[in-house]
Amino acid sequence: MNAKKLVAIIGAGPAGTVAAALLKKNNHDVIIFEKQHFPRFSIGESLLCSCIDDLEQAGLLSVIEQANFQIKKGAAFQKNNHYAEFNFSENFTKGKDTTYQVERAKFDKLLADEVVRQGVEIRFGEQVEKISFGQGADLTLRKENGQYYQFHADFILDASGYGRVLPRLLNLELPSTLATRRAIFTHIDDHFSDKPLVREKILITTHPSNPEIWFWTIPFSAGRSSVGVVVPESLFNESNLATDALLQKLIKETPSLNNLLRDSHWDTPINTLVGYSANVKTLHGEYFALLGNAAEFLDPVFSSGVTIAIRSASLAAELLHRQFNGETLDWEENYSKKLNIGINCFRTYVENWYNQRFQNVIYHHSPDPKIKAMICSILAGYAWDINNPFVNESEYRFNWLADICQASQQDINNE
Ligand code: FAD
Repeated sequence: MNAKKLVAIIGAGPAGTVAAALLKKNNHDVIIFEKQHFPRFSIGESLLCSCIDDLEQAGLLSVIEQANFQIKKGAAFQKNNHYAEFNFSENFTKGKDTTYQVERAKFDKLLADEVVRQGVEIRFGEQVEKISFGQGADLTLRKENGQYYQFHADFILDASGYGRVLPRLLNLELPSTLATRRAIFTHIDDHFSDKPLVREKILITTHPSNPEIWFWTIPFSAGRSSVGVVVPESLFNESNLATDALLQKLIKETPSLNNLLRDSHWDTPINTLVGYSANVKTLHGEYFALLGNAAEFLDPVFSSGVTIAIRSASLAAELLHRQFNGETLDWEENYSKKLNIGINCFRTYVENWYNQRFQNVIYHHSPDPKIKAMICSILAGYAWDINNPFVNESEYRFNWLADICQASQQDINNE
């Protein structure tokens, strides 16, 4: 059987480039269609450790290691007088214990340049507009000069992120079970005040009176940082404020963050995204699979997006290789179910973040070190490690833990 097949990938974000690198490594022909030109801005800047293992497997780690990105060693949480840290060196799961905080424009371009160097063709400025399936798939592409052309491939990997090309064209979209939220964000020249801020950790700060509102502070290298807030869309609408005014107002209401940012230079326009959580009816079909955000996106709070995107790419590329070599595979069992182990685990923590039960667990006054290491592993992206009881039965175990914490501690919102 001829194992050499042509795979067309829609989108050159992390999901697309990782899938391309892995397929190319196994000697399959790959082409990526990317509607934009790189570098281009993208959100999703704080990475998790487990995606570093996947980047290494794909032969894409060394370019990232050489790029002087800010090393990340954990996550810190603060709310009123409470502060808690998770150090990835204390992970339950064996694996990488550091990762990076990256400007995505630079990160995505490095990955794209490296896969081109490895022999993958990327057609920038070409947008996938239509698709039809026969023996494989026929794509209709639109170039920037307005010209259309057809392209035939044996298989399509949709890594189009928020473009969600196949979910839209094939009517696969499902509403997310998560509430509609808005993120408002920018990059700053940080000049952090002398209050200790560990640059090697993402800082998540909860608003003092509304626990549904939280801020991220993601330090980059060279004194710059990403700062953003997530608010319920209903609150944004009721505020009658422009996005930048609302961001500034909410920061002022949050003393620890206001103090941290008091000398920062706000030199970049404010950006906003709303309703980014999304779901789909299926992750695969006879001639396609959905990767990364084109499949499902939960929420930014635990920085899981790029990690899930890269994991989906690794799983799909491995399955495709085996299929092209003649194996008959059950994609539901080998792709959807496997990918969903991690997604469902993160979902448990996201849902319980917004109902505050996870916030109460995070700030518990005397955490059990073994349990903390298991939770820490999930926050480090090892959400597919089924040896971790908090992965394997995430909802059941989480509820057990949250009930114990609640019984032994007052709700932190009352303190
Ligand atoms: P993308 O990176 O979005 O790439 C998709 C590519 O497809 C784009 O380059 C696009 O131009 C291209 N494309 C789209 N349509 C077409 C088309 N029709 N034809 C050709 N090309 C097309 N994740 C983290 O890991 N850490 C974080 O700290 C984090 N913070 C976040 C904060 C917010 C507010 C939000 C909303 C998300 C955050 N995420 C974070 C999630 C992260 O942004 C995504 O999960 C991640 O970028 C998904 O990668 P991807 O490769 O699937 O898609």
